[in-house]
Amino acid sequence: AAKDAAASGAGAAADQGAPTIFDKIISKQIPANIIYEDDTALAFRDINPQAPVHFLVIPKHRNGLTQLSKSNEGHEQLLGHLLVVASKVALQEGLSDGFRVVINDGVNGCQSVYHLHLHILGGRQLTWPPG
Ligand code: C5P
Repeated sequence: AAKDAAASGAGAAADQGAPTIFDKIISKQIPANIIYEDDTALAFRDINPQAPVHFLVIPKHRNGLTQLSKSNEGHEQLLGHLLVVASKVALQEGLSDGFRVVINDGVNGCQSVYHLHLHILGGRQLTWPPG
C-alpha cells in the first residue's frame, strides 16, 4: 500500500477518503484554469464563479485534509502556506480593494468536494452575512 501511495501522482492513495475531482485537476487529467502553482499548492478558477474573481487554492497532497475539521498541529505549515498563496494570488488578480476567503466544512458548511480548498472571492462589493 505504501508503494501504491508513493506511485500515486496526487498522493490520494495515502489519504483517508476517496479521491476527488481535484486529484484529476492536480494530475492534469482534466483541464482547469490554473493561475498559480508551486510544489505544495495549486490555484485555479472556480468553474461556477460566484463573483467576478473566484478561484480555489488547494494543497497538491491532501495529507488527510478532506476538510478543515480534520486538521491538526501537523498541518499548520501547510495551512499557513495556503493562506499566503491565497493572498498573493488575490493581489495578482487585482483584488487590491479586498476579497473574501471561505472554507466550507462538512454538510452544514455546504462542502461538496472533500479535498480541502480555500475559496477566494472578489472583484465586487461582497455582502455580509453570507447565506
Ligand atoms: O466548498 P465546496 O466543496 O462546495 O466547493 C467546491 C467548488 O469546486 C465549487 O465552487 C465548484 O464550482 C468547484 N469545482 C471546480 N471545478 C471542478 C469541480 C468543482 O471549480 N471540476
